[in-house]
Amino acid sequence: MSDCLFCRIVAGEIPATVVYETEDVLAFRDINPKAEVHVLVIPKEHYADIGALAEGDGTLAAAVLAGVAAVARSEGVADTGFRTIFNTGPDSGMEVPHAHAHVLGGNFLGAMVSS
Ligand code: 5GP
Ligand code: ZN
Repeated sequence: MSDCLFCRIVAGEIPATVVYETEDVLAFRDINPKAEVHVLVIPKEHYADIGALAEGDGTLAAAVLAGVAAVARSEGVADTGFRTIFNTGPDSGMEVPHAHAHVLGGNFLGAMVSS
């Protein structure tokens, strides 16, 4: 989708700091990090959210989860702990409607949900 921010990152039209890449999955640092480690893991193919991805291509959904685990290892938080967030829809505050996992860690993350 040419008007999708994350599709444009996949296409190389918008720069990003890539930390992990496979044929199907890309992971890059969040531009506005909420923790010492804040990486976004996305399928290169466009799906609107994680539910659409799971229904559309379960193998690709599994590849995203494998990317989360790989990023946690390479970022050094696999043992110290990390949080994985899949925002979906308005109440989540989702800003970019392209399925993505937030991988957050590197410091104590506090309460699961604030406010
Ligand atoms: P959402 O709120 O949709 O779950 O998360 C979208 C995330 O994308 C936000 O954490 C936001 O900081 C991040 N983001 C927005 N624009 C860009 C960008 O141009 N580059 C990168 N690397 N991250 C972005
Ligand atoms: Zn997209």
